[in-house]
Amino acid sequence: MDFIFHGATNVALQKTIEQKKETPRVRWQGWWYAFLWGAIADLVPFTVPVVYSIFKGIAFWAGENPEMLQVSQNMYQYTHSLVIFGALFLLVRAITKKWHLPMLGWALHIVMDMPLHAPEYFPTPFLFPLSSWTLPFGISWTTWWIWGSLWIILIGWFVWLKRNKKHD
Ligand SMILES: [Zn+2]
Repeated sequence: MDFIFHGATNVALQKTIEQKKETPRVRWQGWWYAFLWGAIADLVPFTVPVVYSIFKGIAFWAGENPEMLQVSQNMYQYTHSLVIFGALFLLVRAITKKWHLPMLGWALHIVMDMPLHAPEYFPTPFLFPLSSWTLPFGISWTTWWIWGSLWIILIGWFVWLKRNKKHD
């Protein structure tokens, strides 16, 4: 999905977790912080090439700059790996002695990308670097009805959160 969707999904996820928790959220962890964890897997490999391509008038996604596309594809493996996510999630837990729940948006991003990318265009190597295996099936999220339905579900999630909000 688009990075805004990924970011917003983690905002909804964190709000849902927060409703169940006794302890309030740390002050500096605002909604933008959850958004960042949800979108980071795409922001890291694509922000620089996409912004550069817009200024240069290059069709980046169509492969008009193959070297840059290659670099992005390389970085994509690292940021879309559940193995790398798991290692960092555990590392943060070991250092801080606490589960850093906003990071879960990163894992959710990877899991959503797995079936939502066609096998021939940016498939998601979620086991990288142990294996470069990707799902043999998948429908691109750019298919209009998939994109639209997922956004409707996410908006429904936010509406549900608003209705269930604890009044204190
Ligand atoms: Zn992604």
